[in-house]
Amino acid sequence: MAGKPEIDADECTGCGICVDECPNECLELGSEDVAVLVKDDICDGCATCEESCPTEAITMTEQ
Ligand code: SF4
Ligand code: SF4
Repeated sequence: MAGKPEIDADECTGCGICVDECPNECLELGSEDVAVLVKDDICDGCATCEESCPTEAITMTEQ
């Protein structure tokens, strides 16, 4: 089982890059302009979001 992204709300600027870059469209910007993993079941742990985040707000969990 691959890891899943954890998003640090304090570091997320709401830029939306990870939302655009996720190949599986698992991420959306939430009400506070913080990225949210909305499709946990579809996320394959590819870490594209982690690599694309300019503020390093995303950390992949170890699973
Ligand atoms: S790990 Fe990959 S599939 Fe999962 S949210 Fe990030 S970019 Fe999308
Ligand atoms: S790329 Fe990073 S800063 Fe931008 S919305 Fe995603 S988690 Fe937030």
